[in-house]
Amino acid sequence: MYATKVSERVYLLDTYALGQPGTVGAYLVKGPKPTLVDCGYASSYESVLSGLAEAGVMPTDVRYLIPTHVHLDHAGAAGRLIKEMPNAEVIAHERGVPHLIDPTRLIESSTRVFGEMIMGLYGTPDPISAERITAVGKEAHLDLGDGVTATLIHSPGHAPHQISVLLDGSKTLLTADAVGIVYPDMKALIPTTPPPSFDPAALVATVGALRQTAPSELLVPHFGVRKDVDWVFDRTAELVQLWVDKVKILRKKGMSLDEVSEAMEGDVMRDAGVKDLAIYAKVSVRTSVMGIIRYLERA
Ligand SMILES: [Zn+2]
Repeated sequence: MYATKVSERVYLLDTYALGQPGTVGAYLVKGPKPTLVDCGYASSYESVLSGLAEAGVMPTDVRYLIPTHVHLDHAGAAGRLIKEMPNAEVIAHERGVPHLIDPTRLIESSTRVFGEMIMGLYGTPDPISAERITAVGKEAHLDLGDGVTATLIHSPGHAPHQISVLLDGSKTLLTADAVGIVYPDMKALIPTTPPPSFDPAALVATVGALRQTAPSELLVPHFGVRKDVDWVFDRTAELVQLWVDKVKILRKKGMSLDEVSEAMEGDVMRDAGVKDLAIYAKVSVRTSVMGIIRYLERA
């Protein structure tokens, strides 16, 4: 199953990242102007098309494609999908737009983080021509028709060019990676603090600003609908600080990236009450540790 109806108008599309269900989601807001928020890795674009079909939306119907940020698991497939969506406008934060038009540097920096082998599995994003993209700044408003409006909110910290999307009427918040990873089958949260531009103060400020919008539910890319809004916000802000502090201490002791990652995996397993983590969870932990190390070197 590729599409799950999660509220009156919204579908969760599972992009089956690297064939794995329940790890990288996108959201479709149905209505007069169907809107796709995020679209997974470049290699997942067929899953997104299958999800649209299951939800009863033709690619040619899609009016807005909103990559919340340019990371490969959110915007990777945008360049390919947009070719099948002649009526769609891409909307992205102004600081992300240059990377959508020319993904060369994004591909280089992602390859440094993940390596050639993993990049081959993720797939590389296709460029998007500038005339198809509308850039937004601190806040923007979108009319999706039928009385549904959305507010696009700049949400830096995870990445400086990230936006989240609030559906104004239902107060449904599509968080992007402003909140941590909350796999439905795991009772723990993993902070999303990746390289190259993770900024803890900005991330915590974003959590505070999003909380002010008083969302009724959170639609999280990794992964699914959360009604425990306060817990997700609280735990995100708390763990970002805890992880930064702990990684700092472990690095001062001379521990390597592998050793620090293993220590943080231990914390997640303890939180979750489990004895092992799925490979995708381990990759998330390691990526977050890399982002914190990079931040500490910058600071
Ligand atoms: Zn992500």
